Amino acid sequence: MLQVSDWPSHIAGQHVDVRLTAHDGYSAVRSYSIASAPNAEGRVELTVERLPDGEVSPYLTQELAVGDRVELRGPIGGWFVWRSPQTEPIQLIAGGSGIVPLMAMIRSRASVGSTAPFRLLYSVREPGAAFYRDELQAISSRGDSVKLTYAYTRTTPKDWPRPPGRIDASIIAETTWPSKLIPTCYVCGPTSFVEGTAAMLVSCSNCPDKIRTERFGPIGGRK
Ligand SMILES: Cc1cc2nc3c(=O)[nH]c(=O)nc-3n(C[C@H](O)[C@H](O)[C@H](O)COP(=O)(O)OP(=O)(O)OC[C@H]3O[C@@H](n4cnc5c(N)ncnc54)[C@H](O)[C@@H]3O)c2cc1C
Repeated sequence: MLQVSDWPSHIAGQHVDVRLTAHDGYSAVRSYSIASAPNAEGRVELTVERLPDGEVSPYLTQELAVGDRVELRGPIGGWFVWRSPQTEPIQLIAGGSGIVPLMAMIRSRASVGSTAPFRLLYSVREPGAAFYRDELQAISSRGDSVKLTYAYTRTTPKDWPRPPGRIDASIIAETTWPSKLIPTCYVCGPTSFVEGTAAMLVSCSNCPDKIRTERFGPIGGRK
């Protein structure tokens, strides 16, 4: 959680650019989605997945300490966003850490008391790899709220109805909003995941104009 004194607030789905600068002047910039719901208190929550051989994510997850300062630019982005006046069905589809901006949308929906119908299809390697697992469980178990479906790619919980595997056309057809309801779809994750999923949404008759995508870069298709 970052505390930003002059934060102008943000819209769910936006990201920030984080710049780290070493003593010798070398600097590295990476983008991170904002996980928190819009707020006027300058709270900017980021969720960073540590890539063991990455340059920036190991520092942010293992070395950055309470009280340290980082340089931020943002909020950035005006397309991959959910705004509270939207009332149409919303289909969220995440792969791995691609859940982060979608979580901001789910939290934003709750914080403004929206009743827009949300569904989330969340692809993760195994049960323990899901971000926000308990919070998502609590939200989805409230009756009117967000319908949650997990797709496990490597290991499923015991007695899970589907064998492990990537998101495919059948899980899209069975668990996402029917295209006739004209949902707005938000797909976020590794590049190959996003491109494959968006293509399947189109093959399930979703209008390409209603599919918004955010690519996180290398994994499964190096940057
Ligand atoms: C809009 C946006 C939002 C994002 N939001 C999030 C978020 O909320 N949470 C999150 O965790 N991530 C997010 N990302 C991804 C994030 O920006 C970084 O890409 C990620 O943290 C990896 O950075 P790194 O410096 O640790 O890894 P890098 O040093 O950039 O390396 C990434 C991987 O690529 C490999 N690699 C590096 N260089 C090469 C090379 N030359 N050839 C082949 N492979 C190479 C490394 O081995 C490593 O596995 C987002 C990206 C975008 C574009």
